[in-house]
Amino acid sequence: MPKSSSVYQQLQREADALRAVLDDMGAYIFIKDANGCYTYANHQVLELFGLQLEQVIGKDDTHFFDLSISDQLRVNDLRVLQFGEVIEREETNFIKGTGETRVYWSIKKPLRDSAGNIIGICGISSDITERKRLETQLREQKQLLDTVMNHVDAHIYMKTNHRTFLFANRKTAEMFGMSPQEIVGKRDIDVMPTRDADQLWKLDSEVFRTQRKQEGEESFKDAKGKLRHYWTVKIPLKSTSETGVLIGLSTDITELHIMKEELQRQASTDVLTGLPNRRSFYEYAQREFSRSVRTRLPLSVIALDIDHFKSVNDRYGHPVGDAVLIAVAKRCLEVVREADLLARTGGEEFSLILPETPLHTAMDVAERLRALFDGYDLQIPGESISINMSLGVAMRTSNEKSFDSLFSRADKALLQAKQQGRNQVCGAQ
Ligand code: GH3
Ligand code: MG
Ligand code: MG
Repeated sequence: MPKSSSVYQQLQREADALRAVLDDMGAYIFIKDANGCYTYANHQVLELFGLQLEQVIGKDDTHFFDLSISDQLRVNDLRVLQFGEVIEREETNFIKGTGETRVYWSIKKPLRDSAGNIIGICGISSDITERKRLETQLREQKQLLDTVMNHVDAHIYMKTNHRTFLFANRKTAEMFGMSPQEIVGKRDIDVMPTRDADQLWKLDSEVFRTQRKQEGEESFKDAKGKLRHYWTVKIPLKSTSETGVLIGLSTDITELHIMKEELQRQASTDVLTGLPNRRSFYEYAQREFSRSVRTRLPLSVIALDIDHFKSVNDRYGHPVGDAVLIAVAKRCLEVVREADLLARTGGEEFSLILPETPLHTAMDVAERLRALFDGYDLQIPGESISINMSLGVAMRTSNEKSFDSLFSRADKALLQAKQQGRNQVCGAQ
């Protein structure tokens, strides 16, 4: 075998090996001549065009790409071929064979002869279409999230189990007089009084302890010192990279909270006199009854009924009767101690619960109340009216099981006071 033939075979083998490597690079590799016609294209290029090597060699890109839609490819090639520039940039191309739009990261370099003249172009392009699509999707999702986070009427934040903020939306940051960037990395005790932070920590620590969603009402003062109420939902973040992180959503329910309190107040208050009504009297009395049983401290109750009130109405009219009831309530409060609770438990009936009070002291209070009105003229606009009242007093006995029983004994004592001629106090046996 002639020597030249074996060298040729050797070269052929090396070229084949090189071609195999280039085919296997996972990128589009090509060489074009000075006119932009292909002199080499690797397997991946051929696959993209859906053609054989012979169908590609000698042809320029007008055959394979729709340059009327984008001529980025030709512009880049020309810069390499005419000015010897090295191009490293993104290229968007429209492939004729498949009608697809694809994005590439292309590196294109001039090929030169021994005299330095540009004789062609060598290029390597990676398809980054999918990556670009994911990037765009991610960017769009972030934009959406940012828009929602910063415009939603709720406080949204992320906190670690070391009480450090990882995220805070604008509304949250503004509440503490900061920007969202400023709050990140700070602990809750750095941005609010420790007492408030500790109160919020209760729900936080429940999330971390149980690793379950927690919800509840939270209250604390904002940057201006105004007490605000929130409905809060806190959810543990179950991600592999972070442990001990929660996402919190707090909605300002201050107005609702005030309304609820007002409704509760209204539901427990007598509209005419402003005293607690029968319902809240019973709630308070029952609590005190249980406490008295538990502590074995005395508990007394006074039932009070205005004498011949019907005749006040008959003589002066109902509105004046109302004004008398208001005046009676106001005057009674003058002798009622802080721990005692005076309520309007009926039309012209009032009741007084006296915790930790033995019968003789309660009898004294009842007598003071009676005496307060005896011979006293209530000043009602346009009228001066005198009323009397009868009172029944009872103290819890050691074998008494319910407040109802105690209260009905006070009522019986009241009835006795009425029967004995009114304007007097009677104690229950
Ligand atoms: P006694 O000494 O036996 O208690 O006589 P009385 O007239 O006070 O007793 P009675 O229970 O027969 O009448 C109570 C009256 O109280 C009847 C009712 O018209 C009046 N009354 C009850 N609620 C109101 C109210 O809200 N406003 C006014 N103006 N009157 C009321
Ligand atoms: Mg009555
Ligand atoms: Mg009466």
